[in-house]
Amino acid sequence: MTDFGGSIKQTDEFEFAILGIPFDEKSSYMKGVSKGPQAIRDASTGEAINQWTESGVNLEDEANIVDLGDLDVSGSFWDVFTKTEERIREILEKEAVTIVLGGDHSLSYPIIKAFAQKFDPLDILHFDAHPDLYDELYGDRYSHGCPFARIIEEGYVANLVQVGIRAATGQHREKAVKHGIRMIEMKDISHAIALDFNNPLYISFDMDALDPAFAPGVSHHEAGGLSTRQVINMIHDLKGTIVGLDVMEVNPDRDTVGITASAAVKIIMEVIGKIVASRKMKIEEES
Ligand code: MN
Ligand code: MN
Repeated sequence: MTDFGGSIKQTDEFEFAILGIPFDEKSSYMKGVSKGPQAIRDASTGEAINQWTESGVNLEDEANIVDLGDLDVSGSFWDVFTKTEERIREILEKEAVTIVLGGDHSLSYPIIKAFAQKFDPLDILHFDAHPDLYDELYGDRYSHGCPFARIIEEGYVANLVQVGIRAATGQHREKAVKHGIRMIEMKDISHAIALDFNNPLYISFDMDALDPAFAPGVSHHEAGGLSTRQVINMIHDLKGTIVGLDVMEVNPDRDTVGITASAAVKIIMEVIGKIVASRKMKIEEES
C-alpha cells in the first residue's frame, strides 16, 4: 500500500484513488516497469516521509486518499486495456481523482479513453522525453511509443501539451503541427513555464521526462531533461482543474537507491496538494 506519511485512508467515501497497473507488455526496449507500482508504494512508506506538501496542505487531514491496490493484468494486452478502461470508469463514477501507478505508457490510452467519456472536452498535459506519437513502433500500434497517436486519432483530447520532449522525430513534429499539439521541447525551455488550461486537465507523467540524473530508473535514458524542481514548480504554477494523473515508466531494475520512485512519490503528493489547495482557494473566493 501507499502511505504518504499516514495519508492513506480505509473508506468508501474517497476523493483520490490510487490504482497500480503492473503491466509491461508494451515496452519496446527493456522490461521492468511492471515493478513500478510496488517501487512507488515502497518509496511512499516510512519515517522519511511526512504528510505535508510544499503548498502547505496536510494530506492526512485534508485529503481522502485510498489505495485500491493493483489491477489484475492477466490475459491479453487487449484484456488489460479493457479492464483498465472499466476500472477507471468505475472510479470516475465516484467523482474521485484517479492516480494510476504504471506500468508502461501504453496504458494511458485506455485510461484517457475513460476520462474522455467523463470529461468532454478534456485537456492533457503530457510530460515525457518522447512524444509517443508513432503511428506504430516495431509493427505495434499499441506500443508505449504510440498512445498519444491513438488518443489524438480517436478524438479524446481538446488540447494536448507535451513538455520535456527531446527525442522527437520528423514524423512526430509533422504530426504535432498537423494536429495542433503544443510540443514544448527541452531545447526551448530556458525559464519557468506557467501553463493555463480551460478544460478539465489530465496529467500523464512519463518519468523519463526528468533528466536521468534525477530519475535514472527508467528504460530509456535520454539526457538533457527536466529537473525534479522544474516539474514541481510547473505543477505549482499551472492554472486549471486537475482531474487525473498517471505516473508511468518507473523501472526499479535501473533505479539507484530508489531515487526515481521517490521522485514519483513527490510528484504525486504535490499534484494532490495542488488540487486540495486549488479547491480551498475556490471555496474562499466563493465565500
Ligand atoms: Mn518516454
Ligand atoms: Mn511515454
